[in-house]
Amino acid sequence: MELETPKNSLLYRDFESHPAAVVKCGRGIYLETEDGRTILDATSGAAVACLGYDNREVQTAVARQLMDLSYCHPGFYKAKVAEDLASFLVNSTHGLMSKAILCGSGSEAVEVAVKLAKTYFTHLRSPQPERTHFIARTGAWHGATLGALTLGDFKGRKDPFVDLIPQMASRVSACSTYRGLREGESEEAYVRRLAQELDDEFQKIGPHKVCAFVAETVGGSASGCAIPVPGYFPAMKAICAKYGALLILDEVMCGMGRTGTLHAWEQESIVPDIQTIGKGLGSGYGAISAVLVNANLINSLKASGKLFAHGQTYMAHPLAAAAALRVQQIIQEENLVANVCKMGDYLGQRLKSRLSSHPFVGDIRGRGLFWAIEFVVDKHSKKPFPTSLGINGKMHTRGMKKGYEIALFNANGTYDGYAGDHFLVCPPYIVTEAE
Ligand code: PLP
Repeated sequence: MELETPKNSLLYRDFESHPAAVVKCGRGIYLETEDGRTILDATSGAAVACLGYDNREVQTAVARQLMDLSYCHPGFYKAKVAEDLASFLVNSTHGLMSKAILCGSGSEAVEVAVKLAKTYFTHLRSPQPERTHFIARTGAWHGATLGALTLGDFKGRKDPFVDLIPQMASRVSACSTYRGLREGESEEAYVRRLAQELDDEFQKIGPHKVCAFVAETVGGSASGCAIPVPGYFPAMKAICAKYGALLILDEVMCGMGRTGTLHAWEQESIVPDIQTIGKGLGSGYGAISAVLVNANLINSLKASGKLFAHGQTYMAHPLAAAAALRVQQIIQEENLVANVCKMGDYLGQRLKSRLSSHPFVGDIRGRGLFWAIEFVVDKHSKKPFPTSLGINGKMHTRGMKKGYEIALFNANGTYDGYAGDHFLVCPPYIVTEAE
């Protein structure tokens, strides 16, 4: 029986005024609307659809899995496909990470990372249960659930719930060449300054109370591709090690090939204790994320003989795992991370040559196929447009009215007025030069 779609959508969404188009997958990186338009998705949704929308092999893998085993409870049974995906992910770190926990969204992965870090200290041979504080960064986004909101710095989404969220985090400055590096300051001096700020924060909180420092390896939606300067993460990790705290890297957006290596931390000469991934992991063919856990932590947890008290109905879901496994195999077989580097360099060059001189373009920055264009009132003061102007929203709406042939992701900084307005440009890994 065909259902008639009511004229006024009954599906709740924000931004009721946006004329959202009804879409289906087109070919490759395109979406098609019901009224016949073709949209080039320049942002892979929200840095998700890294293989585009019509990958027949992934579709087949999911369909086969559906016929084979649609669901089983991960606490009672092992689904082969989830085991295979976990092996694939652990092997992708060359054994530096030794277990994978499979979840359903980036926010869930962040919650798991936080709870796991706390559990590690509680179960140590000499327990440190007082380590309950997290140090996060300005301009961060770690997800929409209450624990993840606490770590994030997206005021527009956080402030309405500030009375509800746990007060377990404080904040140090993110590493941002455009907004943080002072005039005349060398990158080395900048790193020293940021390391001192983190050290000071440990001292302020009490080093024995800090559980972990949490950061996006490459800042994502709220900071607009904020790229760490060389030496930044080794310096941050050294401070964590000095005080015995963990390093959690959130690679939900920047991981799984997006910035030109499968794991973004591979470019930073460090290995995190805990890492979250999502988005590109399943390329949108399944709702899936994961937490990868360093071998040292797992060994310590095993030695304690105690449990990590966490469970969710849809953890390690076979359909999502089947999607992610095939997506990751294709990325490997087709050497798509190399295409990310090649197309990323080209995209960066083109964005800079076409847009740098525009009076309202303050900065164009990126790594791999992960780029941001930040808008300012004037280049000298770097002053963002007033939030009340909502220029991102206006550009978005205008784009849609014009036919919305290119989808851009207007990043969260807009609503905060923190980092200014920026668009993310992060097309699928299969993008071609012509596209
Ligand atoms: N962490 C980072 C770095 C993200 O960019 C996001 C989402 O944008 C999340 C966590 C939350 O992921 P999800 O929206 O899948 O819950």
